[in-house]
Amino acid sequence: MHLAFIQTRSQAGLLAPEVIVEIHLGSGLPGFQVVGFSESATRQIRGRVRSAILSSHLKWPDFNITVNLAPTELPKEGPRYDLPIALGLLVASQQLPQRCIVGREFFGELGLDGGIHAFRGALAAALAATRAGHACGMAHQGASEIATLTEGRLITAPDLLSLCAQLKKADPEYAPRGTPLNPDHFPYPDLSQLKGQPLLCKALEVAATGGHHLLMTGPPGVGKTLAASVLPGLLPPLPDKTVQELLLMQDIVGLTERGGPPFRAPHHSSSVASLMGGTARALPGEISMAHGGVLFLDELTEFPHAVLNQLRQPLETGLIRVNRAQHQHQYPAQFQLVAAMNPCPCGLAGDPDRRCRCTPDRIRRYSQGISGPLTDRIDLHITLQRPPPELLLSKSTGGQSSSGDVRNRVTLMRQRQRERQDCLNRDLSGDNLLKACQLKNDTERWLIRAVAKLNLSARSTHRRLKVARTLADMSGDRSVAIPHLKTALTFREAPSTDDAGAV
Ligand SMILES: [Zn+2]
Repeated sequence: MHLAFIQTRSQAGLLAPEVIVEIHLGSGLPGFQVVGFSESATRQIRGRVRSAILSSHLKWPDFNITVNLAPTELPKEGPRYDLPIALGLLVASQQLPQRCIVGREFFGELGLDGGIHAFRGALAAALAATRAGHACGMAHQGASEIATLTEGRLITAPDLLSLCAQLKKADPEYAPRGTPLNPDHFPYPDLSQLKGQPLLCKALEVAATGGHHLLMTGPPGVGKTLAASVLPGLLPPLPDKTVQELLLMQDIVGLTERGGPPFRAPHHSSSVASLMGGTARALPGEISMAHGGVLFLDELTEFPHAVLNQLRQPLETGLIRVNRAQHQHQYPAQFQLVAAMNPCPCGLAGDPDRRCRCTPDRIRRYSQGISGPLTDRIDLHITLQRPPPELLLSKSTGGQSSSGDVRNRVTLMRQRQRERQDCLNRDLSGDNLLKACQLKNDTERWLIRAVAKLNLSARSTHRRLKVARTLADMSGDRSVAIPHLKTALTFREAPSTDDAGAV
């Protein structure tokens, strides 16, 4: 037989569509071509595969070799097809029996010495193959983790020759599974570390409970970064689906963070592609790596407008579309946004001890740097002051709950919100919001007076109602009452927003 068909997988976002590697050994002058690949890409593949076959003491078939990857319209790049091409050549030239490849898929890069190397995206490929009921032939490296996550049958080997030996066995050994992930692993600073900041601690618990995005305004060194990194530790353990999506994306970008909701804090000088996704290989960006966890944007005003404007789509849909050449991939990006900014360019505005020298005009331009549509999606805006020094040094936690206690409460509250309205309080809007709040007549009258007195816009009123709904949930009340609204109104908004922080 001078033909062979080997199953493998391509990569499109988190999916791994099936690809068949077709090998034909033709008569005529010896040659090697890969249909649809450029001459230089073909030369590279031939170089690696030929060296690997020869280094494994196998024979390079001296035929006119044609390789076709079907279907042709799928995005196909990278050396991940080395292994299936090599095995296809061995089957077509009858150095490996046909039965060795039946019901099995193969993926992996080959080294010149015949070694099989792991590659990014192997997890998605192994998962898809396992779902299709196939065993996988792949690199040894990282296999036990992939076996744990996919529960697949993985035949692994360090090099081509030992893989062939494994494949010839009637019952090959499958890679053993490692220890499963620990879903209760929360490597984050504890809430009790935020000393002398009761307002901040309360805001963090509210944010965690209702899923509200949070904007902190305050001078440098007030603990904004610490506060943001506490938040993922207050969130419930991630659902299995989110964990799987996260692991697939981490595998694609080559990250090995495991367990707990993620915390990502990209710098404002990062490129738009690295933040949003879509480098040359259409990889997921920072916002996707924060999926299920917290995305922290420190010094919000320093981020390029393009980035802040593009955040609107994932904030609304929990998804981001990433374009590459003719293909569009979609990655999940359901994160909780925590943003921080200084009160003015020098950071001293509102400081009782030191004087800010920024002109009012400069302060106005500074805070206008963040787009309205973005701040509209942030329910909680808080302004922070430096805590008194004696509190910072105090050994007592000031009655502050630990992160673990808050997390247990948050888990319960989020469950109740979903039972009541099928979403978190953050996602309530219009009639659903009013229905969920169940305002009594006197509460409604009080709110109307407060809105008029504080000159709040409709959007700002809705944001505070959502926060009040969360506060009512936290105190176990069915309807939102005046005390909840009062507290919601004390979360003072930054002057950048539509109602100029009037409380
Ligand atoms: Zn200033």
